[in-house]
Amino acid sequence: MEAKTPSRQYDLQNLRRARWLVFVVASVLVGLTQAYNYWGLKLSLFDVLINLIIGFFVAWLMTELGLRYFFRLQEELGGAIVSLEAAETQMHWQSAALASAANAIVITDRNGRVTWINPAFTQLTGYLPEDVIGQTLSVLKSDRYDDTFYMQLWQTILDGRVWRGELVNRRKDGSFYTEEQTITPVLDDQGQISRFIAIKQDVTRRKTMQDADREQRILAEALREAGVALSATLDLDKVMDILLDQIGRVVPYDTVSLMRVGNGRAVVVRARGNAPFPKRFLEPENAVFVIEETPNLLELVQSQQPTIVSDTEKYPGWLKNGVGSHIRSWIGAPIIIEGEIFALLSLDKQEPGFYLPQHARILSAFAVQASLVLHNARLFAEKEENLRREQQINRVVQATNATLDLPRVLKQVVELAANLVEADGAVMALVSADDQTMTYPYWVNLPEDFEWLPVPRGRGLAWQVVEKRQPIRLVSYPDHPDALTEWIGAGLQALLAVPIVAGEDCLGALCLFYLSQEKVFSERDQVLAELAGQQTGVAIQNARLFQETKQRARELDLLNPVIAATAVSENEGDILQIGCTELARYFAVPQAVCVKLDEARENICIMAESLADELPSLKNSCIPVKGNPILQKFFDTAVPITLPDTRRMSLPPEMAAVLTDRGMVSVLMVPLPLRDRIVGAIGVHSQQLREFSKNDIRLAVTVGEEIGRSLETLRLNDQLRTHAAELEKRVAERTWELAEANEQLQQLDRLKSKFVSDVSHELRTPITNLTMYLDLLERGRADRRDHYLSVLQKETARIRQLVEDILDLSRLEDSRERGIMFLPVDLNQIVAQVVMAQMPQINAVRLKLDFVPEDGLPLILGAQHQLSQVVTNLLTNAVNYTPEGKIEVKTYHENSEVCLMVEDTGIGIDDVDMPHLFERFYRGKQVAQLGVPGTGLGLGIVKEIVDLHGGRVEATSELGKGSLFRVWLAAVEDGA
Ligand code: ADP
Repeated sequence: MEAKTPSRQYDLQNLRRARWLVFVVASVLVGLTQAYNYWGLKLSLFDVLINLIIGFFVAWLMTELGLRYFFRLQEELGGAIVSLEAAETQMHWQSAALASAANAIVITDRNGRVTWINPAFTQLTGYLPEDVIGQTLSVLKSDRYDDTFYMQLWQTILDGRVWRGELVNRRKDGSFYTEEQTITPVLDDQGQISRFIAIKQDVTRRKTMQDADREQRILAEALREAGVALSATLDLDKVMDILLDQIGRVVPYDTVSLMRVGNGRAVVVRARGNAPFPKRFLEPENAVFVIEETPNLLELVQSQQPTIVSDTEKYPGWLKNGVGSHIRSWIGAPIIIEGEIFALLSLDKQEPGFYLPQHARILSAFAVQASLVLHNARLFAEKEENLRREQQINRVVQATNATLDLPRVLKQVVELAANLVEADGAVMALVSADDQTMTYPYWVNLPEDFEWLPVPRGRGLAWQVVEKRQPIRLVSYPDHPDALTEWIGAGLQALLAVPIVAGEDCLGALCLFYLSQEKVFSERDQVLAELAGQQTGVAIQNARLFQETKQRARELDLLNPVIAATAVSENEGDILQIGCTELARYFAVPQAVCVKLDEARENICIMAESLADELPSLKNSCIPVKGNPILQKFFDTAVPITLPDTRRMSLPPEMAAVLTDRGMVSVLMVPLPLRDRIVGAIGVHSQQLREFSKNDIRLAVTVGEEIGRSLETLRLNDQLRTHAAELEKRVAERTWELAEANEQLQQLDRLKSKFVSDVSHELRTPITNLTMYLDLLERGRADRRDHYLSVLQKETARIRQLVEDILDLSRLEDSRERGIMFLPVDLNQIVAQVVMAQMPQINAVRLKLDFVPEDGLPLILGAQHQLSQVVTNLLTNAVNYTPEGKIEVKTYHENSEVCLMVEDTGIGIDDVDMPHLFERFYRGKQVAQLGVPGTGLGLGIVKEIVDLHGGRVEATSELGKGSLFRVWLAAVEDGA
């Protein structure tokens, strides 16, 4: 039936074609017939048309029926032929198929003797037809099955059922193979079993493949499960744990470990052991392998492929001693993330030759899966880490902004920076105030007992960071040539040091460490640390600004009282005391002293001190400057001194008595300036180790200067006071002098008035006498004319003498006012001339005159005519007031004075007259009674002249016996 369908279709097509052909031919015939009927037979057109329609219809009917019949016949005949042909072909094909079937086919008779085999049988078993035809197939038996097996087989097929089964047989060459066999019994016409057909299919390959398939499935399952397990978490640590938990399901091991790869090292981060393995395997120092030095790891890393060491004993360079000694076979596979080896899987067995290539393949597949999961976990961890770090940075920023308490902030920053990059430890290095030392005030997680000693400029890596303002990132700190041995000793390994920057300044470095070898700082760590460094700089700057403001306030607190107190203090001691007290208070020290240099600038003496209660005073004690290099330098340079630790210095004993003996450890000494000289110093002494900052020094210097200014003011005030007092004294003196002068002037005035009055009085008498006697001369008695004339002459002489004397006095006063030229004169000569001139008059009254000049009498400076007047007046008086006796004139000299002595033996001078002798117009009482003519001006003129010559006049007298006048004048000095 199946074969009919196409041919039938074919026939139907032919039928349609034939139908049209017959119908057209019939139609043509009908047409031709009717044409003949019309034109030949001349039938009517109607008849012809009717005939034509009928003809066509008949032709169509005939064609249809005839053809259908014809084709049915043809169809039946064709079917028979086709069946026959098909049967023949099938026979041929089946025979060929049997012969060429891929499966081995065996036909046996009812007893199992082979009647036919195909070539595939020979191919499968190695037996040729001649080997087996006529034989049973027991040659193929593998002895793997017992008799029962074969009996059941026979039972089945003999019962007429098909036996199907898989069994292992033996080839002609003795090797085994697995076949899948179908034995079908063939029945004859009577329904009896005539033969058996066995079809054998070699399933050895399939079997192997199935095994492999199953293995693959198990592996896939294990991998899938491992994948599920691994994907269950993104926690990198857990992922690594699960990795090791799962690996045993796909590759057997005694020990397995996961190693992280980086910086040429493989570090065991996880390990499992089925077999006992050395515990120290997991100890950190044993868990690090230098890849270059470990051939199996090097091979693995270089090839980036799973690597097997079949037998470690035959593997050159296997680490026999130590951790790998128990291992005989080893397999390793790389876990590659983004093209780089992230980690290694390392498995080992204690038996040699255990690991085979398939293990490598499995491990490789596992490693691929592990890499994906680890990659994810790592990305996640990184993301988490980023988040965490962002939070940390925020915390750093917050911490630095939260408070201005710098030490707290910095301590916190160090902690946060260490957390930020997960460093094992961190230390903050800060440049000291003098820019010369690096100190390490803050650290975390580093050995507690470690002493972070300050480091001088240029030593260690922190200085390099500060000087270059560049971060330093080292894998191994101890390998760096500039590493500090003490830091190496503290166990520092990887280093990341970043600058602490504030604007233009670099204030220090933030140093972060790993204490173990397997960790290193990444580029990202550096970026984060730098951020923390900058933030620290800002914090320090802020805090410093705040501190500075606070400091300024404190300084003002110190300076204000010093300025205020010293400004009003009136003595040096008070000012120095205020300076000491305020400095001691400001620096909170138990001892502050003010010292001053003595006049010779050889010693300093303590002038003021501020002392804690228990310390006895050292006030007024002195220390020699000479031989004390510290003090000498101080007073030479005027540069403030800081002695950070006097215990480590050998001081001169006097200085030690003030400092070390009293437990003063740190010293600050600033100069006490007075104008442009250093007159002393102020010392601030602390009993604790104390670093005096630039600021401290500046402030103390300012206090010193302020005290110096106050001392200067004080000194100026003293001077001013002294000056004022002096002025006052001088004014008083001057006032007194003026009063004196005034008194003198008044006296003079009075004298003048008296003089005028005296002169008037003295003139009145003679003038009255002159008037009266002129009148008498005119109208009086003639006989008395001579008398009248002599009186008139006497009175005229008196007036003349009076006028002469007054003129003399007037001239003298004139010379006193204008000054007169004195020349050296010889007194002897002057006296001799006067004596000679007076001699006639003396002789007339019979008086004896002795002139005794001294030989070699020194010259005197004087005006000759004035000195002549002195001698004349004295001599005239002696003559006038000596009624009889003698007059002696002597000159002599005593010391540097020359003396003129006039002595008489006259009437003498009454004691009453004595004090008034030299007054103008004064005349002795008795002389008036005696009627001795005179003006009372003679001695006045003498005194005036002697005064003008800077000499003196003395008078001694004894009433009735005589008088003695001495005039003393200065002799001209030799050579003058
Ligand atoms: P006068 O001689 O003109 O009286 P003086 O001034 O010369 O004035 O002398 C003053 C007075 O001193 C005299 O009046 C006289 O009393 C007294 N006197 C001066 N010289 C002598 C003398 N040598 N002996 C005694 N008395 C004298």
